[in-house]
Amino acid sequence: MSSCCCSRAHLPVVAVHSSGRPASASPWPHARPRLCSKQPAVDSLPTTADLAPGGGIARSLLQGSGSSLQSQLGQRDQRLRVAVDVDEVLGRFLHSLNQFCHEAYGVHYDVADYFVYDFAKVWECEQGESNNRVHEFFDSHHFAAGIEAIPGALPALQRLQAACDLMVVTSRQHIIRQPTLEWLDQHYPGIFTGNVHFGNHFALEGSSRKKSEICRAVGADVLIDDNPAYAVECAQAGVHVLLYDWQNSYPWSRTAEGPVHDRITRVRDWAEVEQVLGVLAAQRQA
Ligand SMILES: [Mg+2]
Repeated sequence: MSSCCCSRAHLPVVAVHSSGRPASASPWPHARPRLCSKQPAVDSLPTTADLAPGGGIARSLLQGSGSSLQSQLGQRDQRLRVAVDVDEVLGRFLHSLNQFCHEAYGVHYDVADYFVYDFAKVWECEQGESNNRVHEFFDSHHFAAGIEAIPGALPALQRLQAACDLMVVTSRQHIIRQPTLEWLDQHYPGIFTGNVHFGNHFALEGSSRKKSEICRAVGADVLIDDNPAYAVECAQAGVHVLLYDWQNSYPWSRTAEGPVHDRITRVRDWAEVEQVLGVLAAQRQA
């Protein structure tokens, strides 16, 4: 299969600086997107006008990549299959974890301290120690009852249900399967019922599955995730990725490599997720 984005349906590429400035102002090397000749030249976060029906991105999808999308997806189920990450996309995991760390260990971290979503690196400890602390967190009230839902996610998902098949693809461990299902039922009732998949990453026991493998197995067209490593892995596997960087407040989502890929689009909130998916879903149903 060709590596050119023109050969596949794809989302518009967006690359931005942490401040929200266009990528052209980014101090990072290789921050500008690779664009194929037929791809819309989008070098800043999409605006509502761009994403609205008839807007710049919508027109590009209709006239350019959209025709590829339509022809490719028209042969399959018309509904978009969207995989959604849990932590930092649906729920404020880090916010609660930081509260636990302060209470249990007397250390203070903010979300802004996580330059990488690797707790051992941020906490400056061994991987085993990091894993143990996280599993202690799982047993605490901060995990059981303290994780808040990301604002705007539920109403957006409720609207998206009309045109999308929604599923959870999380790296969470099997050991927290039941509390995760209960949390999803509590905060996202009727959205993901019976369609939740666990990667079991960084687990103390059991084997793990790559997110790209899970996405392939469940037939996901799109993944919404805050982790740049998972974003690149899944984009390279042919999945469109909306890289979730809530209000540009997730330092770990921005790496020296961008990340930049033809199938990765950065989004700042669920309104933007809804807008981009709405355009794609409309294309599929056209
Ligand atoms: Mg996450």
